[in-house]
Amino acid sequence: MMHSKSIVELGAGLQTGEFSSVELTRHFLQRIERLDKDLNALISTTPEQALAEAESADQAIKAGQAGPLTGIPIVQKDIFCTRGVKTSCGSKMLDNFISPYDATVVEKLKHAGVVSLGKANMDEFAMGSSNETSFYGPVHNPWDKGRVPGGSSGGSATAVAARLAVAATGTDTGGSIRQPAAFCGITGLKPTYGRISRFGMIAFASSLDQAGPMTRDAADAALMLQAMAGFDPKDSTCANQPVPDYSATLSDPLEGLKIGLPREYFGEGLDPAVAASVEAAIDHYKRLGAEVIDISLPNSGLAVPTYYVVAPAECSSNLSRFDGVRFGYRCQQPKDLEDLYKRSRGEGFGAEVKRRIMIGTYALSAGYYDAYYLKAQKTRHLISDDFKQAFKTVDVIMGPTTPTPAFGLGEKVNDPVTMYLNDIYTIATNLAGLPGVSIPVEPVNGLPVGLQIIGNYFTEAKLLNVAHRFQQETEWHRLTPELESVASD
Ligand code: GLN
Repeated sequence: MMHSKSIVELGAGLQTGEFSSVELTRHFLQRIERLDKDLNALISTTPEQALAEAESADQAIKAGQAGPLTGIPIVQKDIFCTRGVKTSCGSKMLDNFISPYDATVVEKLKHAGVVSLGKANMDEFAMGSSNETSFYGPVHNPWDKGRVPGGSSGGSATAVAARLAVAATGTDTGGSIRQPAAFCGITGLKPTYGRISRFGMIAFASSLDQAGPMTRDAADAALMLQAMAGFDPKDSTCANQPVPDYSATLSDPLEGLKIGLPREYFGEGLDPAVAASVEAAIDHYKRLGAEVIDISLPNSGLAVPTYYVVAPAECSSNLSRFDGVRFGYRCQQPKDLEDLYKRSRGEGFGAEVKRRIMIGTYALSAGYYDAYYLKAQKTRHLISDDFKQAFKTVDVIMGPTTPTPAFGLGEKVNDPVTMYLNDIYTIATNLAGLPGVSIPVEPVNGLPVGLQIIGNYFTEAKLLNVAHRFQQETEWHRLTPELESVASD
């Protein structure tokens, strides 16, 4: 079946002419049509554009000009601006926004020859851990439709897990690639801050936001990252660093790899079944020749509170551009300018976004700046220093991606603090700007579990190597949710 194959496998099939990109694209569009009614993973589909891209891909393949992503159907998180296509960011505010330009990530992937099937659902402005804050309704976890897929890249994760697309793009400000990857049983990589351009990626918290690939496995993530990474003069925070060949080192041996296990990531609040599954994966690494070292990241407890000052502060500033004047939602018949601002923003934003804007505005206000924002910047430094210390003695850090498997829809939506605690193991890496990947390990009661692997700056090749070696010997990343009877497929 075409949809059960990875990018690497499909690339081979396209090369040998086993199937064409047009056939592949039609197959995925039909799956979306059939299955997405129950999942809600996509906000929009672009079948005409997809088929046109597939046709040019087929021509490139025939002409011998194909790269590894040529003709591969993917979906883009709806946070990336796509020229001529609605770019909603999961919000009513941008429900009418057709982007006049492509984000750099979109441009680069087009250049690599991908076929874009549509735009993936997400939490509104990427704020959330469950995809329940989307204006377009929640996404359902393909492993259990009564549960959340995680957020904010929940549509992307669901699309890949349910095989509605071969791969997807995501963004991660505090865990939004890794947490939904863990909940949906796929591989999700958040690169080093600055590795991928943020140009055209709608800003949430600019010092934390980073795009990354969401795929079935690490080998596919390497191919996606290869196309997405690199310097972009349009983003002043984008790193001007050479991009290594991420596929070349995937199978390197792991003998002597030093894995740090932070005791803070295995303590109170961690579901014992998740812990057991993560520990079993770590044992596997020992059999591959790795050495496990206990470490401490003493300021881990400060990560969530620090993030919930820094991220809202930056978001309150970034989202001030949505004023009802320039683009996006505008209220009906405003009385005057102030009424226009108030009602456009009041009607256009959802509850979680408003909560963040209020927290951020408060934290940045004159009398509180030093007490909150400045203090948070200092604790952020302490958190980075913990990692700096750790990477003096270890090559990678491992632990669970999330404290529990996917929770029920509606279960945490009215309790923001409990919701925020979902990202307890992922947020610190964003504050430090470090890369991290989540890969599927043994499920718990039929629900996926993620192992998180954190690396030092710009060590994505190492992370993918560490992930790939595990996936060469295990089957967890191949598990697929049962979505329809074989007869109807
Ligand atoms: N769940 C976190 C939040 O709500 C992280 C979101 C993200 O990474 N975009 O802010």
